[in-house]
Amino acid sequence: MSARESELLASLPTGLLIGGEWVAASDGGELTVSDPATGKPLATIASATPEDGIRALDAAAEAAAGWAATPARVRGEILRTAWELLQERRADFALLMTLEMGKPLAEADGEVTYGGEFLRWFSEEAVRVTGRYGANPEGTMNVIVSHRPVGPAFLITPWNFPLAMATRKIAPALAAGCTVVVKPAELTPLTTLAFAQLLLDAGVPAGVVNVIPTAQSRAVSAPIIADPRLRKLSFTGSTEVGRTLLTQAAAGVLRTSMELGGNAPFLVFDDADLDAAVDGAMLAKFRNIGQACTAANRFLVHESVADEFARRLAARVEALRVGRGTDEGVQIGPLIDGRAVDSTTALVADAVERGATVLTGGAALDGPGTFFAPTVVTGLPTDARMVREEIFAPVVGIVPFRDEAEAVRLANSTEYGLVGYTFTRDLARAHRLIDAIETGMMGINTGIVSNAAAPFGGIKQSGLGREGGAEGIHEYLETKYTAIPLTR
Ligand code: NAD
Repeated sequence: MSARESELLASLPTGLLIGGEWVAASDGGELTVSDPATGKPLATIASATPEDGIRALDAAAEAAAGWAATPARVRGEILRTAWELLQERRADFALLMTLEMGKPLAEADGEVTYGGEFLRWFSEEAVRVTGRYGANPEGTMNVIVSHRPVGPAFLITPWNFPLAMATRKIAPALAAGCTVVVKPAELTPLTTLAFAQLLLDAGVPAGVVNVIPTAQSRAVSAPIIADPRLRKLSFTGSTEVGRTLLTQAAAGVLRTSMELGGNAPFLVFDDADLDAAVDGAMLAKFRNIGQACTAANRFLVHESVADEFARRLAARVEALRVGRGTDEGVQIGPLIDGRAVDSTTALVADAVERGATVLTGGAALDGPGTFFAPTVVTGLPTDARMVREEIFAPVVGIVPFRDEAEAVRLANSTEYGLVGYTFTRDLARAHRLIDAIETGMMGINTGIVSNAAAPFGGIKQSGLGREGGAEGIHEYLETKYTAIPLTR
């Protein structure tokens, strides 16, 4: 580990943030965070107990009225200051994400930009929460529609985008006037701890943001979700855990936002610009080492161009540089842990057993670290596990199709519906596909859709609600209608 890395890690808070204080866990428990590129420990931090979770909710509930009453302009300016501080601390945040999550430094820097935009966007949205006023059709009554913060919110985030998944929830919640308890993923909590300190430095009052990393996610989360003071649950993670949390949230009829798994179709038609499609595929698949909910999971390619697309893509994939994300020029870091390597190995083996061909890669790489070779598999039969399940690794699977109707049928034959990508030069076809593909988001001739100004989210079992855009703040607002009769 370099001196710069040691110095950064030594500067981090290691406690739980509860009521504006960094504190140890009530039972003294700790968890150790490791570098997936080396397997070596990076830091040991406090691991919250269920009692700590409730103390964090106590703090959020206590701070709720004061924060809701804080003028929107003040809340917005605190978020703006947070965005400015993040720009000053950009290099530290990028390095920290690379160390605990493994992504290449250039991509981590990109996440600082993307994640930071939610602070800037919602600093601007905070002052634009307006209502409606109008007469009823009978002309006998005025209708007033207004919005209020929903109240204390519990935010659970995944490990793959340690900063952006936190800012995408915390920024709209704070802009709306909600206080929060944040539970980061146990594999990557360090970025959230550093970000919580940044929020305190930006002027976020005590108790408004509380952070409870824990090695006991379920035991700590369940009592918070069951507590009647909690008014909102926002979760990003796997569909499986999302279903469990929805069941828990049902008991209290809790407002929920769910950003869950994906199985994105990436359609390439015979009229597509193949170079653009290959560029798009590199982005849609290999960004974040293939570990993104928006990652292209099924490459559906017209049979007349499938071989050529596979050949060009494999040439690009073979040239990818794999290594520790801190090293110059590295484009593919490690997978998050050994379990991810094992499940990717099993997915590729299943595809080969069913008759697919590995064009490049196909196996785990020697350690230390949990690396998997960037892979292209072609001639994938539609019953392969890789077609049905989220791969979450740098593995491309190509399925040929015959015509548009078959492409649409294949694209939609999944319980997921987060994002789709379509490469075609035919404008009418693009418009038909926007309507026909069952996803919450669509990229036309692009391999990346995420933007703070756009509503991010899925349909079907990819989730409920939207993050970002004009919609994002409404996930943290209640709607109130008031009737005022004009006659007595
Ligand atoms: P995960 O579901 O295993 O964990 C997500 C979070 O939930 C973590 O903080 C984890 O500690 C916590 N958790 C796990 N079990 C829990 C329980 N029983 N009670 C309370 N909390 C619990 O997911 P992951 O492996 O961290 O992330 C990868 C998944 O996230 C993928 O499926 C990916 O598609 C999805 N994801 C979705 C989006 C989106 O916006 N749709 C964005 C990023 C990631």
